[in-house]
Amino acid sequence: MTPDTGRWIRNFVDGHFVEPDENRSFENVDPATGRVHARVHEADRALVDRAVQAGRRALEGWSGTAVRERTAVLRRAADLIEERFEEFVAAEIADTGKPVTQARDLDVARAVANFRTFADVVAAAGVESFLTDLPGGRQALNYAVRKPLGVVAVIVPWNLPLLLLTWKAAPALACGNTVVVKPSEETPATAALLAEVLADAGLPAGAYNVVHGFGADSAGEHLTTHPGIDGVTFTGSSATGAHVMRTVAPRVRPVSFELGGKNAAIVLPDADLTETLDGLTRSVFANTGQVCLCTERVYVHRSVFADIADGLVERAGALRLGRPLDEATTTGPLISQAHRDKVRGYFALAEQSGAKVLTGGGVPELGDGLDGGSWIEPTLWTGLTNTDRPVREEIFGPVAALIPFDDEDEAIALANDTDYGLAASVWTRDLRRGHRVAQAMNVGMAWVNTWFLRDLRSPFGGVGLSGIGREGGASSLHFYTEPTNVCVHL
Ligand code: NAD
Repeated sequence: MTPDTGRWIRNFVDGHFVEPDENRSFENVDPATGRVHARVHEADRALVDRAVQAGRRALEGWSGTAVRERTAVLRRAADLIEERFEEFVAAEIADTGKPVTQARDLDVARAVANFRTFADVVAAAGVESFLTDLPGGRQALNYAVRKPLGVVAVIVPWNLPLLLLTWKAAPALACGNTVVVKPSEETPATAALLAEVLADAGLPAGAYNVVHGFGADSAGEHLTTHPGIDGVTFTGSSATGAHVMRTVAPRVRPVSFELGGKNAAIVLPDADLTETLDGLTRSVFANTGQVCLCTERVYVHRSVFADIADGLVERAGALRLGRPLDEATTTGPLISQAHRDKVRGYFALAEQSGAKVLTGGGVPELGDGLDGGSWIEPTLWTGLTNTDRPVREEIFGPVAALIPFDDEDEAIALANDTDYGLAASVWTRDLRRGHRVAQAMNVGMAWVNTWFLRDLRSPFGGVGLSGIGREGGASSLHFYTEPTNVCVHL
């Protein structure tokens, strides 16, 4: 099938877009309509090798560039994204079908913030030092200089493509690394657009390379198996993360993994009802439930269970599914028909497990040329327990199970009864209790009376199946650099 527009999304290697090869390409589908809107050139092993070699050649120059010049390039990149803001918004929407308000306010705005924040963080970074007392009265000075890892492989998923890519590429580049990025096969457009911006911002050729393709036996695996890669930063599913870890193990390369989640919310009996319902609505349905931080398990104190269930059903009913460019649209499609099949599989499983469907559970008919898209109804269940698969496994759709509890200890035990450990939220008017319950969550990030409120200097990541390591602020500097400790006998 030929693309509607004939537009190509190309690989970017050593400062240039690579001429596409029709015989090695795949379609980029708009998930809102199901129509093909571009073709993507799939990088083969030789092209991935060229990208890594370009990264190696650029490394000496870029890592040797003064911090003030490196950070100036990042700040110019942020300015240029702002200048081309609507182009990025359009590319993000074409890839994902997400509502224009979200693409503007979250995805593209965050890309700008990522470049500015990591320029600030690197500019302000110091070196750690210790003055060591020695027997006999002399001293030693220990100080650690931090050096870039080298060529970093950046592999990201499709749910927040530009946000997650810049969350990794910005600190990696700020620290003096060069990168080869592999965006998701579902969402290649913004990574390619970013190549133009970074080149215009003055980033040297070879410091940012983009290779498109799939995982196994394609660009993803060619990249992670390449001996010229010095580290891998990966966001995606836990199963793929485990695979990537095995792939890089023989060469003992550092990895940073931001993986899946099965996040809980705990609604305590004294929670502010309106604030909690507004917060839960965002945390369950934002980005059509396709955020790693989204809530799929809502534990509610029995005394307020009916109020929370009724309020959430009402708010789910008020969500507007529709054309991404309509400013009133709140909710987009799922990323693909394949992903919708997976989510519908959980709908069926939930009903087999005895779930009561409070709302949703099917596929909407939207008309307006959208019925070829991968739309799904926002869905809420009661009647499931922690032993049911839809409550244990990550679904990654606009769906949550509401489960009652009777006391705080039970709520904590239920929330922590998972193999994942990414995020949690706690809803209460009693802040002492809020701190206590939030600290008891076995997760990387716990919120009290909010969700997805981020300070980019704070650590982000998960435990268990949700990942290894943290990024954000100083945590990013630690991952993207290696210290050399110098000890001077004084
Ligand atoms: P995925 O694991 O299928 O793919 C992620 C990326 O890895 C894609 O670019 C893919 O092409 C690539 N890939 C796949 N197989 C590979 C292989 N063998 N070698 C190298 N690369 C390979 O994930 P997805 O479906 O794109 O994204 C959804 C998942 O991402 C969910 O599990 C979600 O929770 C997770 N996620 C986590 C975070 C976080 O910060 N913790 C953020 C967003 C998404």
